[in-house]
Order: sequence, then structure tokens, then C-alpha cells
Amino acid sequence: MSDDAKHRLELWAEEMHQGHLGLRYKVRRTLYSEESAFQQIDIVETEGFGRMLFNDGIAMVSERDECVYHEMIAHVPMFVHPGVRRALVIGGGDGGTVRELLRHPSIESVRLVEIDPLVIEACREHLPVTSEALNDERVTVTVADGVEFVAGTDERYDLVIVDSTDPIGPATPLFGPEFYADVKRVLEPGGLVVSQAESPFYEAGRQRSMLEILSAAFGRTAIYNYTNLTYPGGLWSFTLAANGDLCPIGDFDAGRFDAANLECRYYNKAIHRGAFILPEFQRANLDGLLSPFKVEP
Ligand code: SAM
Repeated sequence: MSDDAKHRLELWAEEMHQGHLGLRYKVRRTLYSEESAFQQIDIVETEGFGRMLFNDGIAMVSERDECVYHEMIAHVPMFVHPGVRRALVIGGGDGGTVRELLRHPSIESVRLVEIDPLVIEACREHLPVTSEALNDERVTVTVADGVEFVAGTDERYDLVIVDSTDPIGPATPLFGPEFYADVKRVLEPGGLVVSQAESPFYEAGRQRSMLEILSAAFGRTAIYNYTNLTYPGGLWSFTLAANGDLCPIGDFDAGRFDAANLECRYYNKAIHRGAFILPEFQRANLDGLLSPFKVEP
């Protein structure tokens, strides 16, 4: 080893979670670091996880495992609804959710409503793996608060995806009842809403309150899990609610999945069904708030 290498400074990005857990990533170099009107935004090139986007020091996207989150947030509702034509994505300025939606031939338009223009700008420059989808002609990017957007829009959607940060700052109302009343208003009859629903281990109270809000407003409610590398604890969830009676298991179109030949890296038919089978502690926490499936998973 040269003297140079021996003394080279090691840089690490550390995400602190709830004050008692730290996740550390070895950083090769910083590609982007700016404070926007809403948050601190950093994109770094890491050892082992590829490029990573951090908002306020919290990992949003890593090239290594972004497929898990984006495939699960998009394909689960897309193979339950019989034909999503218009979709709305709230948050998600990295573009990964939009990318997965666009893989479905039924999609005619996707509107992305991201509050922070710098997230879009930073990802367009340094995270092409997700952000390139934003250049597709079916996509309209709107820089606005998603809460205000759904309260004011006359548009109607078959699918709304809430691809938000944790419930801090401007994302807090995205977890509240007024927002979901507006989401219901902008959903077509039979439409679906899927939301980033945090961790069953760390955010049991939040999951319960989300399901309480959804089950009061929507015909059907469910929660499903996925496992990734970069969110604290690894096991995280999405909620799914139907403005009607679509069942995430009974109405899952396995034949359409086979025909689509998507070649996903995480999502498949068994994962679709298995994701809705919850560990006992999570099931007990959400007791009484989940709709029965039309058929067993
Ligand atoms: N996969 C992610 C995660 O949970 O780590 C979410 C990624 S995406 C980058 C989340 C985005 O939601 C952020 O860029 C943030 O600016 C945006 N956001 C937060 N509150 C919002 C609001 N009220 N309206 C629209 N976008 C919002």
C-alpha cells in the first residue's frame, strides 16, 4: 500500500434513525449537495450501493435496491386494477415510480407532483436510472405541494400513488384525513390509491393511523410489505385502498402479469400474493382495519 492510500480520508454518510440506530454508507464522492427551500438534498456515489439520494440525511433511493420500492409501489396496483389509463404520483421526484408505471401499455398519462424542484433537478443530473422516465411524452411534471394539488384539481385518475418522504415537514399532511378525502374525490370509481407506509417495526402507530384514515374513507383497505436494503429495519410497507371493491388478491390479474413479461428484479406473482401476508405483530396492530380478501392469498 502506498503512503497515499494508507492515509486517504474515509468519508461515510450516516443516516440516524430515531436517535438510536445508525446506517452508514461509505462515500466515494459527493455529486450534489444543496439546501432547497424544503430540505437538504445530497446525491453521493457510494461503495456497494451505487449512487444514493438523501433528503435531510434520510436515504430515499439507492441504485442497488431502488427496484424493490419502485416495482412494489407501481406493479401491485397496476396488476389489480383492470386498466389504469391516468395515474397521479405525489412526491417521487426521482422518477423511479413513474418509470415502472410507464412499463404498462394501458398508461396514457402520468402526472408527477413534486414539491421540491431541486429534487427533480438533482436527480435529472445525477440519477438517470430513475429520472430518465420523466422525459417520456406521457409524463407531465408539476412542481407543487401535492396536498394543495389534489385539493384544487379537476382531473380524475385511475390510480394515485403517494411516493412521499417520512411524515416530516411538508410531507406530514400527506398522512392525514383531509388529504385522503381529496384523494378519494380525484379517484375514478374503482380507482386505487397506494401510499408509502413506513416500517411495521418502527412506525406501528403511524401504520395504524393510516389504516384508520383509509378504512373510514375507502371501500377496501390493505397493507403489503417489501424487504429492502437501505430503509431502517429492512421490512417496510405500502397501504392500498380501493374506491370500490377491487381486491388486491382476488382481482390480481396473474395472466396479464405473465403476458407482460416485465422481467422485474423483485416483483413476481408469488411476491404479489405473499406481500399481503403479514407477520403476527403487524396483523395484531392493524386488527379490525384490514378488509378480508375475496380469496385467500
Ligand atoms: N422512496 C422514497 C422514500 O420513502 O425514501 C420517497 C422518495 S421521493 C424522493 C419523496 C419526495 O416527496 C421528496 O422528493 C419530497 O420532496 C416529496 N414531497 C414531500 N412532501 C411533499 C408534498 N407535500 N407534495 C409533493 N411532494 C412532496
